[in-house]
Amino acid sequence: MSYTPLAPRSASFKYLRTMLLRVGAATLLAGLTVSCAHNGGGANESAAANPEKAKNVILFVGDGMGVSTVTAIRILAGQLQGQSGEEYVLSWEEFPHVALSKTYNTNQQVPDSAGTATAMLSGVKTKAGFIGVGPAPKRTDCVASLLHPVESILERAERKGLSTGIATTARLTHATPASAYAHAPERDWESVADMPDAAISAGCKDIAQQLIEFPIGNGLEVALGGGRSNFLPNTAQDPEYSDRKGNRTDGRDLSNEWANRQSASYVWNEHQFQSVDVSETDHLLGLFDTGHMKFSLHREDDPAGEPSLAEMTEKAIKILQKNEKGFFLLVEGGRIDHGHHEGVAALALHDGVAMAEAVTVADQMTSDADTLIIVTADHSHTFVMAGYPTRGNPILGKVIGNDDFGEARATPDLLADNLPYTTLGYYNGPGAITSLPRPDISEIDTEAPTYRQQALIPRSSETHGGEDVAIYAKGPGSKRIHGVMEQSSIYDVMLQAYGFDKE
Ligand SMILES: [Zn+2]
Repeated sequence: MSYTPLAPRSASFKYLRTMLLRVGAATLLAGLTVSCAHNGGGANESAAANPEKAKNVILFVGDGMGVSTVTAIRILAGQLQGQSGEEYVLSWEEFPHVALSKTYNTNQQVPDSAGTATAMLSGVKTKAGFIGVGPAPKRTDCVASLLHPVESILERAERKGLSTGIATTARLTHATPASAYAHAPERDWESVADMPDAAISAGCKDIAQQLIEFPIGNGLEVALGGGRSNFLPNTAQDPEYSDRKGNRTDGRDLSNEWANRQSASYVWNEHQFQSVDVSETDHLLGLFDTGHMKFSLHREDDPAGEPSLAEMTEKAIKILQKNEKGFFLLVEGGRIDHGHHEGVAALALHDGVAMAEAVTVADQMTSDADTLIIVTADHSHTFVMAGYPTRGNPILGKVIGNDDFGEARATPDLLADNLPYTTLGYYNGPGAITSLPRPDISEIDTEAPTYRQQALIPRSSETHGGEDVAIYAKGPGSKRIHGVMEQSSIYDVMLQAYGFDKE
C-alpha cells in the first residue's frame, strides 16, 4: 500500500516562534520535569533532554461525548460517590491544557464517527463514512479509495518500531478503532459479508481482515473490544451464544490466524482475559462479544463476563510498556454514543464514568514526563441539560427547583402543561413526543437505567450534534492543545510530540 507523502503541516512559523521563546524556560523545566515525574515509568533520556518530546501517546475518544455529556458524567460520577455532584472533578478535568475541536466532515456540517476518527488519527479531514481515506473519492468507490489512503498515527508509530494498541467497548471494526488501522471508503465494510463483490474484486479488503493482516512493522500488539462475529466464519458456532454464528463468508477464522503467530494469544471471555500472562504475550486480541461489548450498566449480564474499559486499558498498557521505544494507544469509550442514539442518557453517562476510570488508570500507569495523554470526543449529540434544578438534584431525575427564597421545593416543578420534566433531554430521537398531552412522568422512575428522555423531533435514532467538543491534554506536547482547533490538528500535536514531524 502506498501513501501520499505527509507534509509537516503544523510546523508553521507561529509554532517555531513559540518554541524559540520557550527555549529558556524549557532548559529550566527539563530538570523540574524529571524531579516532578510521578507514578514510576520514569523519563527516558530524550524526554529528560526535551520536555516536549513524548515517548508514549494515549488518545482517549469518548464517542459522542459532547460538553453537555461531560458535565452530566461529572455530576453522575460525583453523585455515585454520595456527593452533590456539580463540584466533582473527572480525571481528565485535572489536565492542564484544554481546547475546542471543530468536528465537521468535508461533506457534512454534523459529522459521523468515521470521518472524525480519520481526522484525529490521520490529520486529514475527510468525508463521512471514510476510514483512513482522504476526501477525494466518492463514498463506496473502492478503486478511487485505493489511490487516496492516509497514514494514521498508529501506522506511523508501528513503522517507527513503537508498540501499538487499541481498546474499545465498541466492535473493533467499528468506525473509530477501524480508522487507526484500516482503509475503506465505506465504514460498513466490517466483514467480507458486508462488502459488494465488485469492491472485493477491485482489491478492497474488509476491515477485520485489515486488522489481522496489518502490513506495517510487526502488527498491532493489542486489540481489545467487541465485534467477534466479524472475525469468525459463518459456519462456526459462536463460543458464547449458542444461537449465533460468525459473519464471514470466506471461511476464514481470523482469531485463529492472529493466535497462530508467535507470542500471540486470543481471548474472548473475562476469565481468559484475566489469565493472560503479560510477560509471555506480545500480541493480544480480545473479542468479548459478537457485536459491541455491553453497556457499562449491563456488563454484569454478559454470559461469559467482560473486562471493563479500565481493565482493558491497564492490560494494554502493561503489554505496550514492554517496548523501550514507546507506544501508541487508542482507547475508545465507544458506547457513550450508542446510549445517546437510543435516547437513554443513563446508558451514555455510565459509560462515560467508565471511561473516566480508564483515564485514571492510564494516568497512574504512566509518567507525565514521557507520556502525552489526550482525551476528546469525535462529535457531540443533541443532548441537553436544562431547567433550573436545585443543587444536588439527581442528574437523571425530574427537575426539582428552588422556591422564592432559594430553597429546594419538595416536589418536581410543573411546566405550562402542568406536567413534570427531567433535567436531561434530547432535541431529537426515539423519545420524541408525537402527540399531546405530553406523557405524564409523575409516576415514572426517570433514574431507571432504561428510562428514555423526552425529545422534540421524532427520529428512530437520536442524531449527532454539530457543535464543538472539548480536548483535554497533559504531558509532553500538550501545550499545543489550546484555542479553537480543527479536529485534524490533534494528529499534528501527537506527531510533533513523538518528533515524527521532523523526519
Ligand atoms: Zn454515533
